[in-house]
Amino acid sequence: MPKRLLILGSTGSIGTQALDVLRRSEELELIGLSAERSWEALVEQARAHGVKRIALVDERAAARAAEAWTDGEVLGGPEGLVRLVVESGADLVLNALVGSAGLGPTVATLGEGIDLALANKESLVVGGELVSALAEATGAQIVPVDSEHTALHQLLAGQPPGSVERLTITASGGPFRGRTRAQLDGVTVEQALMHPTWTMGSMNTIGSATLMNKGLELMEAHHLFGTPYERIDVVVHPQSLVHGLVQLADGAMLAHIGPRDMRVAISYALHGGESVELPIAPLNLVSVGELTFEEVDEDAFPCLGLARAAAQAGGTAPCVLNAANEVAVYAFIEGRLAFNGIPAVIERTLSALPAAPVRAFESLYEADREAREVAGEAVASAGI
Ligand code: NAD
Ligand code: MG
Repeated sequence: MPKRLLILGSTGSIGTQALDVLRRSEELELIGLSAERSWEALVEQARAHGVKRIALVDERAAARAAEAWTDGEVLGGPEGLVRLVVESGADLVLNALVGSAGLGPTVATLGEGIDLALANKESLVVGGELVSALAEATGAQIVPVDSEHTALHQLLAGQPPGSVERLTITASGGPFRGRTRAQLDGVTVEQALMHPTWTMGSMNTIGSATLMNKGLELMEAHHLFGTPYERIDVVVHPQSLVHGLVQLADGAMLAHIGPRDMRVAISYALHGGESVELPIAPLNLVSVGELTFEEVDEDAFPCLGLARAAAQAGGTAPCVLNAANEVAVYAFIEGRLAFNGIPAVIERTLSALPAAPVRAFESLYEADREAREVAGEAVASAGI
């Protein structure tokens, strides 16, 4: 029997690559798709894959889709997205939403005891403790879809408890690697979007340029593998071919090396942590030639340090950090904030909203709302 799969955020970078993986797999049956507002692309996907239920978070887009497509049901609004999950009877949900908007669908999936292929790292950043506790309570599995975490997941499988000393995740360094803080002053959105090694959605691409993406991934690794922050390292590796490393008690290090293609990580998660054939050329090590590693320049790229501090503070701090980052990045993309304004806005938001304990998901939604307000004011007063 094929596994019944739901893809949330199917019109995005990860979502469309997942559809490509799916096309080649007989083990998966697609039963639902969702997007925020790109209804035409979503309807086209539904037609191409014979899907009968879709959700669009934007109500107007949902209404347009329902007019244009009468072969199935269109659900609208954030509640529609949650209904798509809880009424699906799915065996597996791929959450490829971007931002903290992914938390609700993650909670809905795990709450139903459905296994989760998780690209939306923000779910773990924002609600790590509660999300992990929910998965534990319902027995649902979380398998990451992120090249570094897929690498670590694969490296850690089969390691006896106590044998692992440290984890390392790699960062490409982004398009501005080697620049000083002052040299980042006038960089443009076009320059920031020119990622040297990966093609991704804009939030992730800007996050790679500021290194906030690595800060979020630090928290993702902590929650996925239960490793304390002091034992997770970040190292710059410009070739982006070694995705993650595990240091064992005897000093040996295991490295995961692989092509720069997210379909590897997507396929791994959709096939329950198994490696299946993909139409991707294996690496030719001789033509790769060199693999190099450098320290992160935390003066030029303060976002990683801000993320580490928020992670250590715990409670609502990671949620506040993430919301402020989303606000600041969109402001930068829209030309309302300078590149170096991104860490400045995040820092101001964090100091205005000290970490508070998290007892329920509601306190996270509240902290997210509050942080967006404060960050919005910080953007306005920072000017460009
Ligand atoms: P993207 O921007 O290309 O796509 C996001 C998808 O989510 C789209 O389908 C969009 O319609 C939907 N969406 C956006 N906002 C929404 C909202 N408020 N409510 C509901 N749906 C919404 O993003 P992406 O690059 O595919 O990234 C998705 C997730 O995967 C992110 O968390 C990202 O960090 C993670 N990730 C991406 C890559 C990559 O290579 N693109 C690699 C590793 C991890
Ligand atoms: Mg990654």
